[in-house]
Amino acid sequence: MATPTAIKNPEIKYTQILINNEWVNSVSGKTFPTINPATAQKITDVQEGDKADVDKAVAAAKEAFKLGSPWRRMDASERGRLLNKFADLLERDIAYIASLETLDNGKPFKNSVGDIAFSIKCIRYYAGWSDKNQGKTMPVDGDFFAYTRHEPVGICGQIIPWNYPMLMFSWKIAPAVAMGNVVIIKPAEQTPLTALYAGALTIEAGFPPGVVNMVPGYGPTAGAALTKHADVNKVAFTGSTEVGQIIMQAAGASNLKRTTLELGGKSPNVIFPDVDIDSVVEFANEAAMTNMGQCCIAGSRTFVHEDIYDEFVKKSVERAKRRTVGDPWDNPENGPQIDEEQFNKILGLIKAGQEDGAKLECGGGRYGEKGYFIQPTVFSGVQDNMRIARQEIFGPVQSIFKFKTMEEVLERANDTNYGLAAAVFTNDINTAMTYTQGVKAGTVWVNCYEVVNPQAPFGGFKMSGLGRELGEYGLSQYTEVKNVVFKVPQKNS
Ligand code: ADP
Repeated sequence: MATPTAIKNPEIKYTQILINNEWVNSVSGKTFPTINPATAQKITDVQEGDKADVDKAVAAAKEAFKLGSPWRRMDASERGRLLNKFADLLERDIAYIASLETLDNGKPFKNSVGDIAFSIKCIRYYAGWSDKNQGKTMPVDGDFFAYTRHEPVGICGQIIPWNYPMLMFSWKIAPAVAMGNVVIIKPAEQTPLTALYAGALTIEAGFPPGVVNMVPGYGPTAGAALTKHADVNKVAFTGSTEVGQIIMQAAGASNLKRTTLELGGKSPNVIFPDVDIDSVVEFANEAAMTNMGQCCIAGSRTFVHEDIYDEFVKKSVERAKRRTVGDPWDNPENGPQIDEEQFNKILGLIKAGQEDGAKLECGGGRYGEKGYFIQPTVFSGVQDNMRIARQEIFGPVQSIFKFKTMEEVLERANDTNYGLAAAVFTNDINTAMTYTQGVKAGTVWVNCYEVVNPQAPFGGFKMSGLGRELGEYGLSQYTEVKNVVFKVPQKNS
């Protein structure tokens, strides 16, 4: 794929609600603004979906999922073909979509391109699974024949966050549709534009009406309506742990919806002294600050062995100071944070770090005069009980802790409600083995960080989530297993 060229002023084509392959206004007539975080200026107004719109979308999805409908009768291989067509269209329009993402989300253009490229891979990966998720036959006792069918769960409400809008959209829609479900997607209110454009591409690809529906709007209204609707069979959510808890309660209270949750993290990145310090400083900086730190798997707790601590801190500070910040169209390393709320929350936590006694080594303040930019920030001397050690900051802040032994660092790494990801840097195989076995996290990286692929599972231990997305493991989140038992007539009975 040739490197796409940014379109700095992309035309906004879709701002409505998508139901039954038609674009409609909200029932209430309300709209909400979406903001460019690099300038704090409004980009456009988007139709604001709420319960009434969710009801309409669910009715359309229900119709599309009826037995005998074009979607239910479609060959599984054909679903795969449609998904591949959809991926082709995303590839065709990658320059436009990546530009739209940068405008709406603020991430550097090259990062948006990377996100869309990953989304395309994810869709192709699940396109391949469409006709391959087969059941089993079991040697049951008696004169019976039993086999399993992996059937679609049904109507899936999918609630998307703002930090990786297209990526999270692809992780949700691709396995759901590949397995024959129908979806109602609620993009994040901060970043609805790319998902809506992708919605238009699902129509162009040929998905039947009602299979892919989209209701932009706010969480406590449109999002909550999806989680409470008694005809919605499953809810998949990526976002904060607090909202994840609300969603699980609503899903349980309404109709015991199947639930997949990808929630927060406070991931430990543990560095032993037998490493090449310069290269690991680079990894650790990127782990903490990629996507402006707005990353659930951010390596936000850097544990460094006492033998190399001072040198590591010094080099980390130098690296953070070199980290480029600026206009996302110029492809800096860091663009702006997503919005004013997050901007203020991050600055508040940086203040809390200073109040709690950590040493602010660099950064700590606003960058520039407009938009929501924050200077890359490094704290040393961070203690486990400090607020910056316990709360998810979701900003470009690296907290560096000191440790002595494996036993101690494992205990401290696990002393959190989260368990999404973890990493260890060492050249000692036994150290790596002990750590990977002992750390409680859904993904553990050894001598690398943030390696995420469509083929391998992603998800959290503890309060980082429920269920797994991606890979073969992700399929089970979108299927029900049906055990079918036949009485088999016997010759002599
Ligand atoms: P963040 O804290 O990263 O902004 P949130 O968890 O608040 O993330 O939001 C992630 C997604 O969840 C967004 O699409 C948002 O609109 C939605 N959301 C927020 N609150 C609720 C809720 N009560 N019910 C359902 N969805 C919600």
